[in-house]
Amino acid sequence: MALRLFNTLSAKVEEFQPQQDHLVRMYSCGPTVYDYGHVGNFRTFVFVDILRRFLQQSGYELKHVMNITDVDDKIIRNAAKQGVTVGEYTKKYEQAFREDMQTLSLETPELIVRATENIPDMAAFIAGLEQKGYAYRADDGSYYFRIAKFPEYGKLSKKDFAGMEVGARVDVDEYDKDNARDFALWKAPKPGEAWWDTAIGAGRPGWHIECSVMARKFLGDTLDMHLGGEDLIFPHHENEIAQSEALTGKPFARFWVHARFLLVEGEKMSKSLGNFYTLRDLVLKGHKPSSIRYLLASVPYRRQLNFTFGGLKQAASSVERLRNFKLRLETGHFEPGSNPKIAALAQTARECFTATLADDLNTAEALAAVFDMVREVNAAADAGEVRKNDIPPLLAVLTQFDQIFDVLRDTDAPKIERILEWAQKEGNLDGVSNGRADVYGTLTSKVSDQGVEELIAKREAARRARDFKASDAIRAQLAEAGIIVEDTKDGVRWKRK
Ligand SMILES: [Zn+2]
Repeated sequence: MALRLFNTLSAKVEEFQPQQDHLVRMYSCGPTVYDYGHVGNFRTFVFVDILRRFLQQSGYELKHVMNITDVDDKIIRNAAKQGVTVGEYTKKYEQAFREDMQTLSLETPELIVRATENIPDMAAFIAGLEQKGYAYRADDGSYYFRIAKFPEYGKLSKKDFAGMEVGARVDVDEYDKDNARDFALWKAPKPGEAWWDTAIGAGRPGWHIECSVMARKFLGDTLDMHLGGEDLIFPHHENEIAQSEALTGKPFARFWVHARFLLVEGEKMSKSLGNFYTLRDLVLKGHKPSSIRYLLASVPYRRQLNFTFGGLKQAASSVERLRNFKLRLETGHFEPGSNPKIAALAQTARECFTATLADDLNTAEALAAVFDMVREVNAAADAGEVRKNDIPPLLAVLTQFDQIFDVLRDTDAPKIERILEWAQKEGNLDGVSNGRADVYGTLTSKVSDQGVEELIAKREAARRARDFKASDAIRAQLAEAGIIVEDTKDGVRWKRK
């Protein structure tokens, strides 16, 4: 089924096809590594991950490039404040970002590229723009993009810049539309700032040129898709289009897909409102990475997501419900044979799941399709209507689901452990609302899934041998590790508290 996506450029939902057979060449704007990533950033990264996974499930191969912005205004300012080099400053946050990606089970793009490792290419790109009259050099050695020469400026953000003062300039990387001016491509060195010596002189690149250059270098003149958060539409992506199309004369990206930003507890996230959370803050407050991933993934990317702590709790119980359902299928006792009604449920879920994701990545409807199946199969199993041969197609639906959502395997404990160790090392445990012991108690247990299965098997063996003292001891041991064991008529089920 063909994937349909909302293209910000055409302002329409369009059918997506790559230029070249089954290869999708896509670029997503990565983090600016000046701080720890917050939950708003990760909404966009989770959206990109869901799209990646669905493209692969649909049979595409990916060449996905993500940049690391490791030089920009904020980084230079912060590094100077701390008296360290830009490289020293960004290393820590890049590492933290890569760990955060793992915490949220985000797939690694095929290529992650750093701005500072592609500076000569940026200088050459700017020289090319100057040659064509799209860039000019100011007296101090900075270079600017001449937007009066690019009449299509504004076509992505749908903003009208008519009547704008020609030749006025803006130096900062981030600005609003009222401030749209000739923007800096290259910034001459200021005292105390990092700079590079290049063919166009000394200085450092502006933020926007980084993405134009690295996207072209690694993916070619025209990308299939360019992704990012909606906050990047203007000026960042508008400027990328101007730079790239001015140089190559070709469309820069066929599809521009943007994730909406989120609200936290109904309000715009801000440090002053006290509702600003990094991913690490949320884990230290006692929320599992799988719940956070599930919540971020569950609202379709174009809808505003209201991120609440109540929502996180619900997400945790949804994940638990799915894990229990899977366990029931895997460990329950079912009579031989098959029931056509169950086969039909599995098929409907499988088709709906794909159709809803193909429809502009409607993750909410895709989840609804899976939960409809879970509810009906659970009811049928309670009534003894599920048969042995029904199990594989049901499990196949869960596999299909988890290739996209990736929450069924319980990988939370080691991730939480790593964040606790980090917090302790950084002396950052103040953010832990419940104290370290409680975070451990509610979230982690030292026993792996495999360890739990082994203990349960031992307990079963003890019970069969009528050694109830031993079986009770194992049950107590499991309880201490936060594992709840339930004996049902379908066999033993377990879950983490
Ligand atoms: Zn970018």
